Amino acid sequence: MYSVAEIFGIKVFNDAVMKQRLPKETYRALVAAMGIGKRLDIVVANVVANAMKDWAIEQGATHFTHWFQPMTGITAEKHDSFISPTEGGNVIMEFSGKELIQGEPDASSFPSGGLRATFEARGYTAWDPTSYAFIKDGVLCIPTAFCSYGGEALDKKTPLLRSMEAINKQTLRVLRLFGHTDVAAVKTTVGPEQEYFLIPREMYDRRKDLIYTGRTLFGAKPPKGQELEDHYFGVIKPRVAAFMKDIDQELWQLGILAKTEHNEAAPAQHELAPIFTTTNIASDHNQLTMEIMQRTARKHDLVCLLHEKPFAGVNGSGKHNNWSISTDTGVNLLNPGETPAENAQFLLFLAAVIKAVDEYQDLLRISVASAGNDHRLGASEAPPAIVSMFLGDELNEILDSIKNDRAYSAGEKQLLKVGVHVLPRFPKDTTDRNRTSPFAFTGNKFEFRMLGSSASVADANTVLNTAVADVLRQFADELEGAQDFEASLHDLIRRTIREHDRIIFNGNGYDDAWTKEAEARGLLNLRTTPDCLPHLLAEKNIALYTRHKVFSETELHARYEIMQENYRKVVRIEALTMIDMARKDILPAVSRYGASLASAVEAKQKIGVNAAYEQETAAQVSELTGEMYRRVLHLESEMQQLESITDSTEQSLFYKDHILTAMADLRRAGDQLESLTAADFWPFPTYGELLFGVR
Ligand code: ADP
Ligand code: MG
Repeated sequence: MYSVAEIFGIKVFNDAVMKQRLPKETYRALVAAMGIGKRLDIVVANVVANAMKDWAIEQGATHFTHWFQPMTGITAEKHDSFISPTEGGNVIMEFSGKELIQGEPDASSFPSGGLRATFEARGYTAWDPTSYAFIKDGVLCIPTAFCSYGGEALDKKTPLLRSMEAINKQTLRVLRLFGHTDVAAVKTTVGPEQEYFLIPREMYDRRKDLIYTGRTLFGAKPPKGQELEDHYFGVIKPRVAAFMKDIDQELWQLGILAKTEHNEAAPAQHELAPIFTTTNIASDHNQLTMEIMQRTARKHDLVCLLHEKPFAGVNGSGKHNNWSISTDTGVNLLNPGETPAENAQFLLFLAAVIKAVDEYQDLLRISVASAGNDHRLGASEAPPAIVSMFLGDELNEILDSIKNDRAYSAGEKQLLKVGVHVLPRFPKDTTDRNRTSPFAFTGNKFEFRMLGSSASVADANTVLNTAVADVLRQFADELEGAQDFEASLHDLIRRTIREHDRIIFNGNGYDDAWTKEAEARGLLNLRTTPDCLPHLLAEKNIALYTRHKVFSETELHARYEIMQENYRKVVRIEALTMIDMARKDILPAVSRYGASLASAVEAKQKIGVNAAYEQETAAQVSELTGEMYRRVLHLESEMQQLESITDSTEQSLFYKDHILTAMADLRRAGDQLESLTAADFWPFPTYGELLFGVR
């Protein structure tokens, strides 16, 4: 057994290793490039590559790969070995600076939304030196961004890095106004809490729906669900504990700060949270975490489900994206602070986030949109599809007093003047009690809770960084020209709160009354993916992204196409899987069951004994079998209808309005049959077996 400190980061070419293994000048040049996100000089790259290769070979690596995050949402890698032939039929192990900083994967099969014409089907990957290289399964992985030859982003990391640059630039302008000339760089930080289900592998292997789509498409409610609330933070079963221990070991070796593991609300549901880190690294780490969770589960004869809603009637899985802004001098800009000056600064950043969330509700909603997450948002278990913010009573009262030029009532009554008074202290832990809010202030960070469990955090943080950067730009423009800084600051904060406090909601987000109130406030309620996606191309959003060079207009159109296409593909696969399960498994099974009941009736009647159970059940089964068959035919005919729709946006809407409805009808018939059918006739493991099967 090793201690955590001994194994932590041993598979990472991190700062300590670089310091130890690189010549001083090379190390300094690399660190300088990392700090400002600059491209590495080839001479430096050659030295780094060689040291990296030697280190990797010592760790048992034989191959290297540029590791990237294409628009599929998962990571991609193509392994190349270090070997290079020499004279006399021998090989040496080689890795050049060029191979380190740039790769050319054949990119033609990755989604590009039409960005890459076939004649230039190759893309290139470029090292993100701010994210350390690491070893996974004997392969040296180099975290990279992935672009087309025209320079268009084909991945999730490129826009994320661009958005970090945007918020760095604008935040520095604001900090200069407060006299912070010592700050050289600002980065956003993220700590994603990851939910997941663990189910027995032998059950998973017998469910086509889980295998093909990641979620159950049929499944009657089990006698016990999550109503007893006995799973949340409950004792962890030994098999699950062994899995979690394994995960922690793996993640620690990769330098991932896995911190807490606990049971979640639903049976078989768990959560893993790391300690937060710089956003692009947190995003890489979360991708790695999801991959390792799935792989490690297999080793324990379990399957880790990352789908947002694997089971109907049981809580789905989300990912809470904790987000803040920090300076390279170690100051968290969303920390309320102790002095009047710190508080003025805090209130300005707070106001910036409020305005950003209000103005870009649509983009935040889009950043969490997927066919899977549509089943979760608004299902009274996850935040609704309406974006709103929770600030907590104390902070709310402070904002109210600023907004209305009113005395703040807690403690000694004082008129709160920004930049003059100390903020009344508010206890941190009272701010985190509203679990129903999509976007909650939790003391020194915001927690964005609408993400689905399988999402890459890159999308949501790209939106957050860019939207807040843009508001800070406007703030800096205004304040840089101010005659009286203090007065202008107060005025700006007050005006921002007045204009945007409709986005603040401290009540129960799961309540139906909120939907009505939100509508009255003019907030968006974009319930599904096809509803929200068109907003991506709204003029204000194109203007935002192009102004900060996060996306070009062409890139945005491409993303729009990819997201639409992905939605259609997912629902299509689900519909086809349902038809397959119904026709090949369920209908034949219930038909056999009906026949066996019928022959029992016949046999019993022959000897004149009571056959009520068999007779009545046979009648019900036959009735429902006919019903289910009709539903299958209907879903098939709806799928046929699709063929005649040529416009892709129309197609997405048809999937949402017709296909998903036909699927729900088919499921209802199937689930009723499941409740009626003898266990040994039913072709699939039940919800009970899936959810309570790990013992
Ligand atoms: P909970 O939400 O369960 O109450 P915590 O307060 O411990 O839990 O935080 C949850 C997550 O928020 C953790 O991943 C933590 O590292 C992260 N977090 C804490 N501070 C920050 C910060 N300044 N920036 C980003 N994430 C943070
Ligand atoms: Mg949380």
